[in-house]
Amino acid sequence: MYGIDFDGIIKNLYEGVCIVDKNRKIVFWNTGAEEITGYKKDEVINSFCYKDILKQLDLNGKSLCDDGCPFQYSLDTGEISESDVFMHHKLGHRIPVTAKTMPLYDDNKNVIAAIKVFTDTRSRKDKFEENRKLKELLVVDTLTGIYNRRYLDFHLENIVKENKQFDVPFAILFFDIDQFKEVNDTYGHSVGDGVLKTIATTLKSNLRGDDVISRWGGEEFIAVVRIADEKSLKLLAEKLRLLCANSDYKHDSETSITATVSIGGTMYTKGETINEVIERADSYMYQAKQAGRNKIIIK
Ligand code: GH3
Ligand code: MG
Ligand code: MG
Repeated sequence: MYGIDFDGIIKNLYEGVCIVDKNRKIVFWNTGAEEITGYKKDEVINSFCYKDILKQLDLNGKSLCDDGCPFQYSLDTGEISESDVFMHHKLGHRIPVTAKTMPLYDDNKNVIAAIKVFTDTRSRKDKFEENRKLKELLVVDTLTGIYNRRYLDFHLENIVKENKQFDVPFAILFFDIDQFKEVNDTYGHSVGDGVLKTIATTLKSNLRGDDVISRWGGEEFIAVVRIADEKSLKLLAEKLRLLCANSDYKHDSETSITATVSIGGTMYTKGETINEVIERADSYMYQAKQAGRNKIIIK
């Protein structure tokens, strides 16, 4: 149909697919089923599924082959069943799978076979966890735990596209810690790291979930915030400035260190490049430094 090779697609699905006829004789076994169970197609085709192959157990350890076989259920009742079961691997161990079993009909609507689609839930969980960790390594700054510059670039590209299409307004805030060299010179680099982390955490904790805060480099951060206008941006920047000035890093029981930030901010103007808007925010941050530090300049 439509020149699509459905057979080939099913054969190569990540999920296991098994079809049995009315007598529960296996008539189809795809590559996914081979991968999950270890049994090759030639080893199972034409054998009966209840004969030492699938040996399915339910979550209570009860064998489903004689009584409670999902295939038999679909063949007898024409109903679909879904269950979490444990299949038998050729090497002997058990594999947790999520299985869905459905009847197959002929043109006269008689049940002539049943199909089971099953997924190895364990490998899916592992893969999900692995992907999550890889993603984190790729986009998170190790010292501060906020996004890195790579993710910021990716996010900015997307949000500019979104702005072009849907006119969703957003703004850039540029932060630079004040007199940070002095913190390092006075207390040492590792205390400096602690202060850096404290400021990053304050910024992250006080932005909304769909705003992005990233480490631009050194002791500089950039936030991309979805916000309606300059007036609201000013309120937000002032709040963040105050919260940073009131955060402290506890070096030891006697010393806690406070740092302030200078902030430059600006709304993105439709059509401009990412560099243009960042440079503008950076220059306003510089003006905030000139004005005495621990200040915001939003234009
Ligand atoms: P200003 O108010 O003008 O920004 O003064 P500043 O001292 O913060 O500015 P400057 O750019 O001269 O110094 C930034 C310092 O930040 C210098 C550098 O050693 C320090 N720094 C950059 N990255 C890190 C880091 O990862 N850890 C620590 N501890 N210090 C860092
Ligand atoms: Mg700097
Ligand atoms: Mg600085």
